[in-house]
Amino acid sequence: MTRRSTALRAGLALVAGLALAGGVRVLNAPAPDIRETFYVFGTLLEVETHGVAEPQARQAMARVGAHLRQMHRDWHAWNPGELESLNAAIAVGQSFEVDPGLAKLLQQGRELACRSNGLFDPAVGGMVEAWGFHADTPPTGDPPADAVVATLLAGHPKMTDLTIRGTTVRSSNPAVQLDLGAYAKGAALDLAEEDLSAEGITDAVLNAGGGVQVLGDHGSRPWRVAIRDPFEWGVVGAVSLRPGEALHTSGNYERYFDKGGIRFSHIIDPRTARPMQGVVSVSVLSNNGALSDAAATALCVAGEKDWPRIAAQMGVSAVLMIADDGSMVATPEMMARLEAVEGGFPAPITVVDLPKDVAIPSCPER
Ligand code: AMP
Ligand code: MG
Repeated sequence: MTRRSTALRAGLALVAGLALAGGVRVLNAPAPDIRETFYVFGTLLEVETHGVAEPQARQAMARVGAHLRQMHRDWHAWNPGELESLNAAIAVGQSFEVDPGLAKLLQQGRELACRSNGLFDPAVGGMVEAWGFHADTPPTGDPPADAVVATLLAGHPKMTDLTIRGTTVRSSNPAVQLDLGAYAKGAALDLAEEDLSAEGITDAVLNAGGGVQVLGDHGSRPWRVAIRDPFEWGVVGAVSLRPGEALHTSGNYERYFDKGGIRFSHIIDPRTARPMQGVVSVSVLSNNGALSDAAATALCVAGEKDWPRIAAQMGVSAVLMIADDGSMVATPEMMARLEAVEGGFPAPITVVDLPKDVAIPSCPER
């Protein structure tokens, strides 16, 4: 499929999810928008406040920054920190005390894993590591040997192996290695929004490599963000986010290596212990960051056939999927929100309804 080149308009999104500027406010010399950038989870995270004086914005940013640094340390999958210590305990069959924030995140991850039929499953850290993605730079070597993949698969690590009682966590399966990368960004932005609200910030946009979340609006207009075109330096379309919404995109173009003409991405299919194939990107819009983030990853794994059912099970209804051949499909809710940029979409978008009456899987009690 050939895709029309999308020219970039000055000031329009240069990367996924960049907030789009537009309109100039001159009444009563409004407070300028304040922007700060943090480095967490291997990506730049930008926070921009609107409509508050600089000292208040800076104080709120300081609170967000301190919290983000703590999350970066505690939730890191391969650097020393709380999660690494928990993984070490799991590997030797011991229980481990985590802080309440991590316990809550793991509970949320366990629930989302069940809802996705285990296509999103943060217990697959061992698989992610075996494919070389527990490093700050993309892998350069070969894929793991078939025997290694078979062993990883036989271990069958899954979130339902975890028992979380208060802040005590243990796993009945030593093959579980936790990697929160598929929903940590969304969860961190959710917490950053709480921090901003606690500091009296009502209007802000938070943007972290493929994830954008908003509080309130930008004065008289909504925060408008773009979805990047994974095939070229351009955008698929824009979305005007409503207060509290979160738009997350996952894809095979973020972290990957190519070998023998095959793209191996950092998104692993837990059913095969190999990188998912067939999907280039999935964008999910919902009212919760962790949910949008987890669902975007899960739907990449679900693939072109199964994603509508998994989306319905996870409770997300606004989805855009771009497949390897450049074809695009969207739910009616996403279609209604997608705004064409530069006069059109880069390819026709097929609208697909989600199935009704799907049974919502629940986690076994523990
Ligand atoms: P995202 O960019 O949100 O799709 O997250 C991808 C990251 O999540 C990877 O870099 C891994 O750390 C982790 N991951 C990969 N595959 C899965 C999976 N099937 N379920 C949960 N986490 C995963
Ligand atoms: Mg994700």
